[in-house]
Amino acid sequence: MKKYDVVIIGGGHAGCEAAAAAARMGARTLLLTHRYETIGEMSCNPAIGGLAKGQLVREIDALDGVMGRVADAAGIQFRMLNRSKGPAVWGPRAQADRALYRQAMQQALETTPKLEIREGEAERLLVDRDGPVTGVGLSGGEDIGCGAVVLTTGTFLRGIIHIGEHQRPAGRVGDKPSVGLAHALEDVGLRLGRLKTGTPPRLDGRTIRWGDLEPQAGDDPPVPFSYLTDRIMTPQIQCHITGTTPAVHAVIQDNLHRAPMYSGQIESTGPRYCPSIEDKVVRFADKDRHQIFLEPEGLDDPTVYPNGISTSLPEDVQRAILREIPGLEEAVMIRPGYAIEYDFVDPRELDPTLQVRRVPRLFLAGQINGSTGYEEAAAQGLVAGVNAALRAGGGARDFVLDRADAYMGVLIDDLVTLGTEEPYRMFTSRAEYRLLLRADNADQRLTPRGEAIGCLGPERAGRFRERLTLLETARGLLAALEATPTDLAGRGIRVNQDGVRRSAHTLLGYPDMDLGQLSRVWPELEEIPPAIGQQLEIEARYAGYLARQDADIRAFRRDEALEIPEDLSYEEITGLSTEVRLKLEAARPATLGAASRISGVTPAALVSLLAHVRRWDGAGKSR
Ligand code: FAD
Repeated sequence: MKKYDVVIIGGGHAGCEAAAAAARMGARTLLLTHRYETIGEMSCNPAIGGLAKGQLVREIDALDGVMGRVADAAGIQFRMLNRSKGPAVWGPRAQADRALYRQAMQQALETTPKLEIREGEAERLLVDRDGPVTGVGLSGGEDIGCGAVVLTTGTFLRGIIHIGEHQRPAGRVGDKPSVGLAHALEDVGLRLGRLKTGTPPRLDGRTIRWGDLEPQAGDDPPVPFSYLTDRIMTPQIQCHITGTTPAVHAVIQDNLHRAPMYSGQIESTGPRYCPSIEDKVVRFADKDRHQIFLEPEGLDDPTVYPNGISTSLPEDVQRAILREIPGLEEAVMIRPGYAIEYDFVDPRELDPTLQVRRVPRLFLAGQINGSTGYEEAAAQGLVAGVNAALRAGGGARDFVLDRADAYMGVLIDDLVTLGTEEPYRMFTSRAEYRLLLRADNADQRLTPRGEAIGCLGPERAGRFRERLTLLETARGLLAALEATPTDLAGRGIRVNQDGVRRSAHTLLGYPDMDLGQLSRVWPELEEIPPAIGQQLEIEARYAGYLARQDADIRAFRRDEALEIPEDLSYEEITGLSTEVRLKLEAARPATLGAASRISGVTPAALVSLLAHVRRWDGAGKSR
């Protein structure tokens, strides 16, 4: 039997990141996936990043993950979203050329040492009786042995596609579903649920009346995701905006009985924040227009992705809808939109390393855990890949990020502590410490953590240190440069005429101040590279708030330090209501802090829990 340290199943966004991470950790890794050509496939929209998702991409990159670099190689329109709001919630986003993205991802994996890629279908899990996973069984009958497995099967587990009244088993369009693995997961006793997601029809861009539509350009110059990318080399394109009309809404209303969501054909829950067009028309009945972004799928590809009209209505209704949308009246539909229902595993089955609690060394990452989105999948993939490599050889070290470290920590904590009843996507509002968890400082938050655990390739640490040196030099310069109020007034900067000298650093914290204005006083500030300057401006602006947030983070970490034993018996805790006990048993929170975030767990329940933890002797019994 062939043997590896780590086997990753699935070459989607979670699987690619998991495979690259495990290999960077030095584990002999196999990526096993249905088809080589679909490695890095974007199943839905051709874009990476966005609000909160952009922060995730920067964090993945800071840990030397591949998504940011690949998006930089394939990005055809880069925009910083939310620029009108505070920099803490800016979200870098890139629209990508779908084929270039796949190619760049495949190349990144092929050139990763210690990583082997193989086509095949995993059908069984080899699990020792009440022990760890020991390998994977393929559909042809072959077994592969390994020290750890990461399952990243996306929407494939018992997937069923719906287009109007028609349904058929599929993992996504053109791919067969994974049925054997769903049974294997049930066999090891995991709780499975069912979710749904959807995608819009694809259009032939040559049949769209572009001249009638509002164009939308990207940022100039485009700002890369990766700290390793100096400049974006891909040609940049424009997108266009159109919208639905009352006539579109009328077509949808007239055909709701044929929509699988409303006819009862689909019962599982879809993404609340990414609803289908039929859902939007029903839920927001007072609105007579919903915006649609027309996003080209590639530089040499006429396919256009109409972002905003995901649907599972029948094909003839989809065509009727398009005819009523300005600019799309004669658009040819290349492929209809569809919805897909699939199994997911209740993520409360996992610990914060994404390891299945009842099957040591089996890790799950991505859509299989109830999340939606490429970035959410990739972030989990990286964490699962690192932990699988740490555990494969029987090691006991963990790699866990908490809610004050990263959006990745928020994502995983939310999933494993609270579970989910709808496809989970990341938002900035989910993070308590978002002034700290910014896109601009992801490397300073995480690259040293990556270095300590050993998941950085050779280039990353050096580039990080170069950036730190630039930052420290610039900070020193800002602190050293001082001027009197009179000098400042002479250069057009108004401050109180109190005779007090002010440093450039202090001035940068003033409202509406930036390095450009300060360069009028101190021309040497123009030498600061733009990315470094931007971070200094953000730091100065948030300095007071960040100091206050520090105290909150210290309190949060005190609760996080109170660990709850994995095998604690909740039945023995007196004073817990049945409802609270059941919730705690389902989630098995790793820390007292995590327990406090479960809805319905009261302060009184936490006191009882804490007292019980203190009595627990660590051998699985109360003293
Ligand atoms: P995937 O990217 O799905 O990758 C799974 C991989 O596992 C595939 O390579 C597959 O071949 C492989 N695989 C599966 N089973 C096996 C097996 N048994 N053996 C070997 N290989 C296997 N996200 C959004 O954010 N917004 C949206 O609007 C949105 N709409 C979507 C619409 C559709 C129709 C689909 C299919 C997905 C949509 N998504 C959307 C979700 C997005 O595509 C996923 O979140 C993301 O791709 C998840 O990444 P993943 O790595 O978990 O899984």
